[in-house]
Amino acid sequence: MSESAIRIAALLPDVLGTYSDRGNVTVLSQRARWRGLQVEETVVLAGSTPPVDCDLYLLGGGEDAAQQYAAEWFRDHRQLGATLAERATTLAICAGLQVLGEWMQDSSGTRTAGAGILPLTTTAGTKRAVGEVVSECGMPGVGLLTGFENHMGRTTLAAGVAPLGRTLSGVGNGGADGGGDGVLTSTVVGTYMHGPVLARNPALADALLQTVTGEPLPPLDLPDQEAVRRIRLGDGAAARPRRGRLGAARRS
Ligand code: GLN
Repeated sequence: MSESAIRIAALLPDVLGTYSDRGNVTVLSQRARWRGLQVEETVVLAGSTPPVDCDLYLLGGGEDAAQQYAAEWFRDHRQLGATLAERATTLAICAGLQVLGEWMQDSSGTRTAGAGILPLTTTAGTKRAVGEVVSECGMPGVGLLTGFENHMGRTTLAAGVAPLGRTLSGVGNGGADGGGDGVLTSTVVGTYMHGPVLARNPALADALLQTVTGEPLPPLDLPDQEAVRRIRLGDGAAARPRRGRLGAARRS
């Protein structure tokens, strides 16, 4: 492994991989390479021992049974948990966010202990949250975030813990503590947004890379990216039921 390369690990894409969240790894890598930075990607499958020396770790979403497996996997790899809690930067999406918490309870009432890295708990709601979500990100310079949510879980953050963003439309955490999406700690960025979220929100990708490089990254001249972002913001900001590209009302 090169000393100077940014090391990015996709955690358990074989378990928590139903929503294309692995695309977040591609976005991070490509945006780093466009700046002339070296990147090394590692895929950590369920049967392997996770490396604890990576700079960035990514965890995606998945079904309830898959996330119960993932929670147990984390409890079996406590050194990885310490790395995520104390040193590396982690992006955790939906089930990934829930798994890193204290516990999660599914609709049958079964409670599963999480990895205990994040001060939050999750309980199944009565209605699935499906559709576009928009938030105002709490990370400096990132601005509005958009994504697609699809979850039963409602997440409550412990007192004093910050969400990643203030939810402007959609459900996000939907927990007892009010209108936030995800969580923001000193090492972990969590969100309910799929998309993949970093493809839809390049500024968030750059903010994550910056935690590794320690300095602002030079801007990229990508006109298509700006056009796509305008479409996404227009789509997400509209009230549900939303309008499709041809103007017809559509339901999720
Ligand atoms: N199974 C979890 C829930 O429904 C997470 C879903 C997801 O990752 N999209 O809340």
